[in-house]
Formats: sequence, structure tokens, C-alpha cells
Amino acid sequence: MKNFLSNLSAGFQKWMTGRNGADPLGLCVLAVSLLLSFVPGASLLSLAGLGYCVFRMLSRNVERRQQENAVFMSRTEGIRKKTRQFIIRQKNRKEYKYFRCAQCKTLIRLRRGQGHVHGKCPRCAREYDQNT
Ligand SMILES: [Zn+2]
Repeated sequence: MKNFLSNLSAGFQKWMTGRNGADPLGLCVLAVSLLLSFVPGASLLSLAGLGYCVFRMLSRNVERRQQENAVFMSRTEGIRKKTRQFIIRQKNRKEYKYFRCAQCKTLIRLRRGQGHVHGKCPRCAREYDQNT
């Protein structure tokens, strides 16, 4: 059985050699397609998305797929960065207090448990008073 599985794995690796495989654009299309599969009346769109995802994974035109993925990554850079920062803030919210500067909207982080804090914004030097 173990031999059969290792043969299957080696065969699959050989078959996928030279193909694009999974990349962030393909995984995003896959996620949207799976979400669309729950929406009534959007099953055809969902199937089209799944088909495009499989096409991208099995495509041997790796250079073209990488260019498409690079465009996707550059266009979604802002939302990916904001999502990453939001997750970090949620993870650290018990240890740090986050607030925005009233003038320049810079996100400022203070360690909790310091009581009343008087400080300056690191970007615009506007003074703030915060309870931590
Ligand atoms: Zn500021």
C-alpha cells in the first residue's frame, strides 16, 4: 500500500512537471468559485471559475500564467496589506491599544496597562492623550 502511494505521488509529480500548479490567483478564483456555488443562480459562473482554476493549474504556458499572477498580486497589494495588518491587530489587541492620529490618520500602537499616556504622533508630531 505504501509503495502504491509513493508510486502514485511520484507519477503525479512527474505529470505536474512543467505545469503552472497552484498560485495565489488560482486559489483566489477557486475560493470565489466555491463561494459562488452557494449563491442560487450562479452555479454556471461557479463552474466557469473552477474550470479556469483547473486550466491555470495544468497550463504549460507558465510564463504567461506568472505574468497574470504578477498583475493580480500588484493590483491586490493594498487589500492584502490591510487584511494582514487587521489580522495582526486582532491577534495583539489584548496587549496593545491601536488608534489613529487625529491629523494624519497614522495608526499608532501603545502597550496596554500604562495608564494615561501623553505622546506625539511619529509622523506629524501632533500631541495626543490616550488611556491605555
Ligand atoms: Zn499624525
